[in-house]
This record gives sequence, structure tokens and C-alpha cells, in this order.
Amino acid sequence: MTRLILLFGSALLAFPQPKSVDWAQIDKETLAHFSALVRINSTDPGGSEKPVVDYLKAVLDREGIESKIFTRTNLADPSIVRPNLVARIKGNGKKRPLLIVGHTDTVNVDAKKWTHGPFSAHREGGYVYGRGTVDDKDNLAAALMSILLVKRQGVALDRDLIFLAEAGEEGNTSIGIAFLVNEHFPDIEAEFCLAEGGSVARERGKVKFVSVQTTEKIPRGVKLVASGVAGHGSVPLRSNPVTHIAKAVAKVSEWQPPMRLNDTTRTYFERLAGISTPEEKERYNGLLNPEKTDAVQEYFAVNEPRHNSMIRTSISPNIIQAGYRFNVIPSSAEASLDIRALPDEDMTKFYETLKSVINDPVIKLVPQTGSARPGAPPSALNNEAFRAIESVAKRHYDGVAVLPTMSTGATDMAFLRAKGVQCYGIGPAIDVEDGPKGFGAHSDQERILESSLYQFVKFHHELVIELAAAK
Ligand SMILES: [Zn+2]
Repeated sequence: MTRLILLFGSALLAFPQPKSVDWAQIDKETLAHFSALVRINSTDPGGSEKPVVDYLKAVLDREGIESKIFTRTNLADPSIVRPNLVARIKGNGKKRPLLIVGHTDTVNVDAKKWTHGPFSAHREGGYVYGRGTVDDKDNLAAALMSILLVKRQGVALDRDLIFLAEAGEEGNTSIGIAFLVNEHFPDIEAEFCLAEGGSVARERGKVKFVSVQTTEKIPRGVKLVASGVAGHGSVPLRSNPVTHIAKAVAKVSEWQPPMRLNDTTRTYFERLAGISTPEEKERYNGLLNPEKTDAVQEYFAVNEPRHNSMIRTSISPNIIQAGYRFNVIPSSAEASLDIRALPDEDMTKFYETLKSVINDPVIKLVPQTGSARPGAPPSALNNEAFRAIESVAKRHYDGVAVLPTMSTGATDMAFLRAKGVQCYGIGPAIDVEDGPKGFGAHSDQERILESSLYQFVKFHHELVIELAAAK
């Protein structure tokens, strides 16, 4: 108790750092755990999450933190074992739990393209290289360090702290988050969740803004299918499925589904305007101005495609399949559309509208249901969790703006949000120049700034204390 009073007493005066933490020592420990995690090949496909879980369990056991392992049995192949780990430190139950998440799998690698081995955790020029260094072994290591520190400091908690190391995020949610949510939800149920999906943007070595993921678009694929009568290519037919598919794809591509902002994207553009050049500011502010919005949206479509995707349900035709030789009119043709829906999109209505845009009875619309992810409302911007993230971020990152963001891609938080958990994606500082230079997540030279990893651990820990420590 005394320690906590000291902790919060000092918080009022300066950057709050628990007195009992020797951060230089914690940095060393962070690097040791992080490097060990990166050295494990947990690629999907090719590697396994099990050694990661074994490693984490051993670390937690040593500290007296109990953990549970949940593994979905693979009936087709029992030799495949892809475990998830859940550890919990109990609080006094005044508030509902806080869940901190990292995923243990990574995307696979083409090892010969790597200058430093993908599982080397090679240190050079202030960076650590390796698969997963920014997706998601950084969050995994930070969440691990957070729960270790809470335990060691004996912090009294107003809510349970739950650490989840989940498998299968990159391509197989059925053994990871979907399995946990469907079959073990009481073990991970929480009021708030912190996971991947956010970052701290650095440009030319200077922190520009902190982004916090509060919602995401939902992937919804659809196939357009045209059927007709096969025939000789020397006698063109009006019913040729290739012609029908080509026209349908052209119409879909010309169509812009209507712009619709939510709390997250509205706040995002407002705050982005606040830290932009005068020209950009005028543009971002013009988005909601009826006289300027068309021009701004067109500018986005040409120059800022990610922003264009953030303001509407988007459609990208990515596969066309038809025909097998030049003198045969085929009897069918197909196009696959990658639809990324706004979180609140009514897909039944959307498909109806899409049909009327295509306006061709020959074209059948076949929604792809294989990887169905749940839609959910954005997490709130006016609750205890978001306020805590904002204030801790401002303390750690030079008082820069905190931008709530909607990912155009998907994360496992969609499953948790659909169960009512308020989820926030956070992450370490990344140089915006790094991605285009080929050092980003999923690249062949994935890397993290060592100093940024250490700072992220401090940030993560302080956020956990702010949200969970007894007050
Ligand atoms: Zn990830």
C-alpha cells in the first residue's frame, strides 16, 4: 500500500515510475525475453507456437504466476498442437478484468532474402532484426513484462489482470481467438483489452503522433459468377460470360460506396488536421464540408488510398478467372471482389445495392463465408481506458496528439469487440521511413528499434498500472 501511495504521489510530480523498478535491469531482461521469443520459429506455416508457449509458461512458473493452456484438438491431425496460454493475477473484483494480448505466431519467411537470419534476433545499429519483431513479439514481450512487474511489485489490483498469448492470429483464428471466444470465454472475459494494431509514428527520428486502433474494417469477400453457353470463338455471342464479367467489374470499380464516418474516423481526421500542414489541414477539414467533400474524396482515391478506404466500405476486384483457349467461348467466368466493410455495414443491403450497380441478371453474387469475422461497434473514446491511454501516451511521447484509428486490415480484436470487450490496439514507436525501405512488419528485414521496445514496455506497464491498480 505504501508503495502505491508513493507511486501515485510521484505521478503527480513527474513521469510516474514505480520506485521499486530498476529500469536498466528491466531493459536487459526485456531484451533477453524478446530475443528468445524472436529466435523461436513460430511461423505459420512452417513453425509452431508450442515452443513459445513452453517458454512463456516456464518464465511465469518461475515467478509464481499460474497459467492455463488451451489447445483446440485437431481431429484430422492430432500431431498438430497449437496452444494458447492464459495467465491471471487476481484483483479485488471492484472492476471487471483487463486483458493484455500478444500473438505468438508470425507470418512465414523466405530465409534466403534475409540479410540477418529471420530467427537471429541480430542486434545492429540500435535495431533488433527478425520475424515478429514488430508483429507481434513486441506486444507479446511487453505484455509479459507487464504481468511480471505487477506480480513482483505486489501491486494491489482493482481488477484481474489477464495475459493472453494467442496462437493462429495470422491465418487460423479457429485454433486461436475464435476457439477461445467460443469455448473458453470466461477465462479471457474482460472490460478492456490491449493488443496490437497501434503504433507511435516517428518521422526523421521525431515522434509525430500516437495511433490507437479502436475499430477495424471487416473482410467480406464476394464472387461474381457469369454463366452462358460455350461456343466457337469465330461466332461472337452476346451471352459471352467474359464480356458480362468484364462489364460488371468495370461498373463495380467505378462505383464509390457512400462515405460514412464513425466516432473513430471523425476524431482521427479532426486530430490529423490539427498536426498537418495548412494545405493538408484544409483538405482533412473539407471532408465534412458538402461543397468540398467530393474533391477531397477524389484526392484520397488518387493520392491517399488508405484514407479513401477508411471513409467507406471498399471493393477491390482481385481475381478474374475465365476461359481456357483462345478460340473457345467459355461457359462461365468469375471475379473475386475483396470487400472491406465498415464495422456497421448491413451486408444484406450492401449486396442488394451492389446488384443494382451491376444491373445484369446474368451475374450471380456469391458471398464467401469461409473466413467470416464478426462486425462490432468501435471501442469508445470517452471511457476510462481511452483516457488512460491518452494521458500515459502524452507523458511518454512528448505530449503529441493521440489519434484513434480504424484499421483497413483485420485483427483478432474483432472477435473480442463482438463479445463486448472494449479493445485498444497499441504499439511501439516505428520510423515511418522504415516500411517503404523494406524493414516493416511482414518484410524480409523486419526490425525494431531497441530503445523503442524498452520505451514501449514502460508505456505498457504504466498503462496497466493506471487501469488496473487499486485506487
Ligand atoms: Zn499481428
